[in-house]
Amino acid sequence: MQIESAVNYAKQYGLSINIIGGGSNVVLAEKLPGLTLLIRNQGIHYQGSEVTVGAGVVWHEVVLDTLAHDLSGLENLALIPGFAGAAPIQNIGAYGQELSNVLRSVRAYDSDRLCWVNFDRPACQFEYRHSTFRGSSRYIISSVTLTLNSVFHPIRDYPGITEELEKHKVASPGASDICDAVCRLRRTKLPDPDRYPNVGSFFKNPVISRDQYLRLREEYMDLTGWEQLDGSVKVSAAGIIDRLGLKGERLRGAQVSTQHSLVIVNQGSATFGDIEGLAKKIQDLVFRKLHIHLDIEPITLPFS
Ligand SMILES: Cc1cc2nc3c(=O)[nH]c(=O)nc-3n(C[C@H](O)[C@H](O)[C@H](O)COP(=O)(O)OP(=O)(O)OC[C@H]3O[C@@H](n4cnc5c(N)ncnc54)[C@H](O)[C@@H]3O)c2cc1C
Repeated sequence: MQIESAVNYAKQYGLSINIIGGGSNVVLAEKLPGLTLLIRNQGIHYQGSEVTVGAGVVWHEVVLDTLAHDLSGLENLALIPGFAGAAPIQNIGAYGQELSNVLRSVRAYDSDRLCWVNFDRPACQFEYRHSTFRGSSRYIISSVTLTLNSVFHPIRDYPGITEELEKHKVASPGASDICDAVCRLRRTKLPDPDRYPNVGSFFKNPVISRDQYLRLREEYMDLTGWEQLDGSVKVSAAGIIDRLGLKGERLRGAQVSTQHSLVIVNQGSATFGDIEGLAKKIQDLVFRKLHIHLDIEPITLPFS
């Protein structure tokens, strides 16, 4: 009801709409024109192995709650910041798992047609860090429904997980062991946004042709790439940024994290312009040296 009233208000006064969940993946301009909605719908409801979650529930709580209900499927997505309602926007993914593998449906209010809509998985048009919802405020998500596993199928062959399990002498891990391993890995690898404000990975891993990858490997022998099913190669954006010596690079208050080169941290005084400027500097250098365009992963608001 509140979502409908808010949209009606925006329409009545000719205001554009911005939507914010936990705010962990948005780079905000100094001024945000229009009406900004903070989505806070709560509740986690189970029906067998199906779980429906309010858009305002903290994502990591969803992971822990489902594990406590002996349902697996989200353990590799542990500790991703933000709320459940934002999870479909960029099809969150980590450590070999993506939301699209477990999502059953999304309920959203269509602020153009002024009606409620249910999206099944194909209608979400999920891709790597992309969905039909990304890039506009048309659909305001109120809940997501997931289909989880009552029988555990581990995804453990992702770099880092096997080593982490071995280090802790876990021979036959359960879903909670994977969740713990992922949490430990994330805590050591990524700068904590509470201490070093950041939006996580700033660039998507670019996907290039195999020919281009092999040519680049002649010069950059240590360039990490993962072959895709269609023969193309997904290249590590962090590896590229590292290789070009950009780790620690600064533009006034914005800095490429010295802990993880895919992360841009606000050293306290960074403006929207500083972040944009540093990102552009990186994109330009990467393009000049490798002929690869790095796409930005977080969302800049307002939408341009
Ligand atoms: C340290 C760190 C690590 C991260 N690691 C990962 C990772 O491993 N994998 C990964 O995929 N992402 C990662 N992220 C990105 C981020 O956690 C996800 O994108 C997350 O889903 C954002 O949730 P949020 O609630 O904070 O969204 P917000 O930042 O508030 O919003 C993100 C986008 O979603 C839209 N949106 C939010 N809620 C709704 C809603 N209810 N309805 C419609 N639109 C909505 C917003 O308009 C905006 O466009 C990381 C971020 C940080 C800071």
